[in-house]
Amino acid sequence: MAREVLLVPAEALRPLGIRTALDEPAGALLVGCRDPRLAGRRLLLDPGHGGRDPGAVGPRGSREASVTLEVAQRCASLLALAGAAPSLTRTTDRTVSLPVRVALAESRRAELFLSVHANSFTDPRVHGTETYYYETWESRRLAEAVQRELVAELDLADRGVKEASFYVLRQTRLPACLAELAFLSNPREEELLAVPWFRLKAATALFRGVRSFVEGRTA
Ligand SMILES: [Zn+2]
Repeated sequence: MAREVLLVPAEALRPLGIRTALDEPAGALLVGCRDPRLAGRRLLLDPGHGGRDPGAVGPRGSREASVTLEVAQRCASLLALAGAAPSLTRTTDRTVSLPVRVALAESRRAELFLSVHANSFTDPRVHGTETYYYETWESRRLAEAVQRELVAELDLADRGVKEASFYVLRQTRLPACLAELAFLSNPREEELLAVPWFRLKAATALFRGVRSFVEGRTA
């Protein structure tokens, strides 16, 4: 007869380096392993928009600011499970100016800056994932790692890695990239972005992209 309850004391998992967290909206138990290459690394995640600035708004009314916050928070949880020291430029729906976001990268002595966004265009047929960087080779490498993992995990059209002079990319002095997960202006992608499991998948992809970048640095 199957047992209905499996008791695993958290105390027994800790010495093995296994940590867990519950993602209730997505209905998922996150199980992470301490990764020595991520341990203690200060990584700054930047959920785009917020507060007075909702960002893009989809045809069904989804707000970019809440998509970016949820995905960035989930990514931070995954990084924390792996032993990294992630932080966020905002943890609630509030206005944070672009200069403040950049200043946080300095004051928290972060080693990379990952800005999370959802795209929008006048033509609702336009869809897919793209990631931006500005100028440096290191930022390009970060953008490529993030884009590769997003495309593999989300399975949306690969619009590639592009260079653009966005404020948060131009003004930060550390490796930085800006991921446009999908298009809120595309009805199918707006629907996907509203699903907690999809947001968790996006967060997982960002986590893998960051990990692969950080590992490349220490190698
Ligand atoms: Zn945006």
